[in-house]
Amino acid sequence: MSRLTAAARVTAFGISALGAAAYWTAFRPRSQVFGSFPYAAQTEEKLVALSFDDGPNEPYTSRLLDTLDEYNVKATFFQVGRCAQRFPSCTRRVVQSGHVLGNHSYSHSFTSYLKQPRQEIEINLSQEVFYSITGLTPALYRPPWLCHWPWVLSSLRDHKLQVVSGTFVHPLEIIQPAAAKLTDSAARRTRPGTILIFHDGREARGGTRDQSVAAIGPLIDRLGDRGYRFTTVDQLLGISAYAS
Ligand SMILES: [Zn+2]
Repeated sequence: MSRLTAAARVTAFGISALGAAAYWTAFRPRSQVFGSFPYAAQTEEKLVALSFDDGPNEPYTSRLLDTLDEYNVKATFFQVGRCAQRFPSCTRRVVQSGHVLGNHSYSHSFTSYLKQPRQEIEINLSQEVFYSITGLTPALYRPPWLCHWPWVLSSLRDHKLQVVSGTFVHPLEIIQPAAAKLTDSAARRTRPGTILIFHDGREARGGTRDQSVAAIGPLIDRLGDRGYRFTTVDQLLGISAYAS
């Protein structure tokens, strides 16, 4: 191998490593490289927010709402527009029960995040769906896969939407490990001001969520025993949940 070829290979490797690093930086829950991406509140108070992504997804979202009602705990639901069209009464119940409805895109399609204007269309379509179902326009937005490319952040700013990140409760929640494991992991990751991310659906495709639903009651008990109180993301971050 000539010296030039070796140098070219090192350069190519360096460029692709940099590209990969930039790419993954845009998906990391706590990365602030491309702009503010709140994942928790700065507080010493034992406050925690439960949040649920990718719903509504029946019957799991309703079962979750039943559990939250039992405990009188309010949570934040980042719902997918297309799923809300499938189960509008469930989305209405979220709001009527005093939970907060946040936006989690219209179709949860990965390619929509790679470029404009598709990303912009996702925001507009989903906001229209949520308004038509609930009469409310969400002010909180959690991008699918927590993708926060610069153009995602700037179009959210243009729409006066607050981007919200959080802490995944378990790296494998999507494939549903046993509920006790989800509870243990979520409890271990909770600090004052944490926003926990659960999933009551899977992207826009629904899917079984028995373990996530079963993890919630024991988690509320466990964190309650440690002195935690439950709040919604808007209250935790001191911002509005809906556009006025
Ligand atoms: Zn999602």
